[in-house]
Amino acid sequence: MKYKNLPEIKLKLEDIRASLLGEIKKIRNTSKDDEFSQLIPDTTDDASRSYSRQMLLNLGEQDREKLILVEEALYQIEHGGYGVCKLCEAFIPEARLTVVPFAQYCVSCLNEIEQDQKINRSSGADQLESF
Ligand SMILES: [Zn+2]
Repeated sequence: MKYKNLPEIKLKLEDIRASLLGEIKKIRNTSKDDEFSQLIPDTTDDASRSYSRQMLLNLGEQDREKLILVEEALYQIEHGGYGVCKLCEAFIPEARLTVVPFAQYCVSCLNEIEQDQKINRSSGADQLESF
């Protein structure tokens, strides 16, 4: 399936990524790590996926999860597979992707997952897609 608003969705993902990385930058600016500036990716190619572990650790857990999902979505837009539900492999409706561009599951699978998590909830990151 081709998403009509894919360029828009991609921009949105890049926006989210930029603001998440901005958060890391803010945190890191308070320390004296000169290597950091070299780690900030400025492109959307594969190289940008190689964040250092330390950078990710500086983010809150929820932001970290989100950044990973955003990266994955951007990768899939470039390489294929974007918008496919990870559980049932149906295409996620564009309307949903416009709201949650890094969604990994279709709405019905997400509902099932959330049902499961009510029984076995571990962290706030589980609710990431449900805003
Ligand atoms: Zn599904």
